[in-house]
Amino acid sequence: MTTFQAPKGTYDLIPPDSAKYLAVREAIAAPLRNSGYGYIETPGFENVELFARGVGESTDIVTKEMYAFETKGGDRLALRPEGTASVLRAALEANLHKSGNLPVKLWYSGSYYRYERPQKGRYRHFSQVGAEAIGAEDPALDAELIILADQAYRSLGLSDFRILLNSLGDKECRPVYRDALQGFLRGLDLDEDTRRRVDINPLRVLDDKRDSVQKQLVGAPLLRDYLCDGCKAYHEEVRELLTAAGVVFEDDEKLVRGLDYYTRTTFEFVHDGLGSQSAVGGGGRYDGLSEMIGGPALPSVGWALGVDRTVLALEAEGIELELPASTSVFAVPLGEEARRVLFGVVTRLRKAGVAADFSYGGKGLKGAMKSANRSGARYTVVAGERDLADGVVQLKDMESGEQAPVALDAVVEEIRAKLG
Ligand code: AMP
Repeated sequence: MTTFQAPKGTYDLIPPDSAKYLAVREAIAAPLRNSGYGYIETPGFENVELFARGVGESTDIVTKEMYAFETKGGDRLALRPEGTASVLRAALEANLHKSGNLPVKLWYSGSYYRYERPQKGRYRHFSQVGAEAIGAEDPALDAELIILADQAYRSLGLSDFRILLNSLGDKECRPVYRDALQGFLRGLDLDEDTRRRVDINPLRVLDDKRDSVQKQLVGAPLLRDYLCDGCKAYHEEVRELLTAAGVVFEDDEKLVRGLDYYTRTTFEFVHDGLGSQSAVGGGGRYDGLSEMIGGPALPSVGWALGVDRTVLALEAEGIELELPASTSVFAVPLGEEARRVLFGVVTRLRKAGVAADFSYGGKGLKGAMKSANRSGARYTVVAGERDLADGVVQLKDMESGEQAPVALDAVVEEIRAKLG
């Protein structure tokens, strides 16, 4: 028989490690929920045009990495490679921006797909938690999002990360800079692909990882020197708000990010323990995106944090999350009658909110106690025929090893009291 394996570039989340992923998602979501962001869920696929226009025709994501396909009905769809375009599409479609209550603040959590060359920290299926604040131009909003991401990482115990910050200018000053940069780049010795990039999206050439290119970029015009007064003041305000909030960041003039839609504030969270795939999250302002996908002008800002890489970052820093044991009480019945009675006890415990599990499959005492140990339960309830005849069960404290009889009809309350 053929056995199957997970497709290349993907992996399964299985217990006990999967609990870490849930905890990371929860830790990133908690500060958002606490700050007026509402949960949004969009489909795993969209019309391919949405990403082509929204993410950018010249980006690697669209040209090389998209899982695009035609359906039997002839629709051209793509698995979502990122969240922002979908969330904005959904907000526009539901007219959330017309509610008179801007910004619309949304958060999401889900799977994303990019046909990339797999390596540690880079997968074809990965998981992000993201946030978008749609329809307001306010430096405090940019600052809020960066502060909330910082808070999320710190709540997980992470400290070995840095925040890189830049401004990409707006539709006034960015074109002027773009021209100047193009003039500079056209004088360099670049391969054909890169020359094409110079024509379509010259800012992204600054992001080229190759030494041969980076060496030639010394002396390239810097966006900083071209920012208009509005962009400069805006950026300065973001910086001041972050500093006042105690969030440490580094100015990084070369931070352009791989997506076309960013304007003004852009930022990236990088972790220093991750090697080449060091970006754990990133985002920025995308004031032009709504119009690019057919909506009204809606200045917006957002980020997405990678769950997979955040888990790797925890491992790199040697952080063990304090995850509550999934089972507090384990029931071990000895005999048929005990099976029925203890199954009832387990059901009552669960209804009372106590995490309880049961020895299934008719195991003997030894095997059942092994399962109890593995479950991590604090207490084991054991009962045999003689106990039942006496109207009791044996309650064993798995930490101290002590065991004592407890009246059957008092056991749920007794355990609840003991667990506090
Ligand atoms: P991006 O949309 O490219 O800015 O990605 C935002 C975050 O998602 C990154 O900082 C990573 O943490 C994560 N991410 C992006 N692509 C991948 C991938 N192929 N594998 C794992 N994580 C990824």
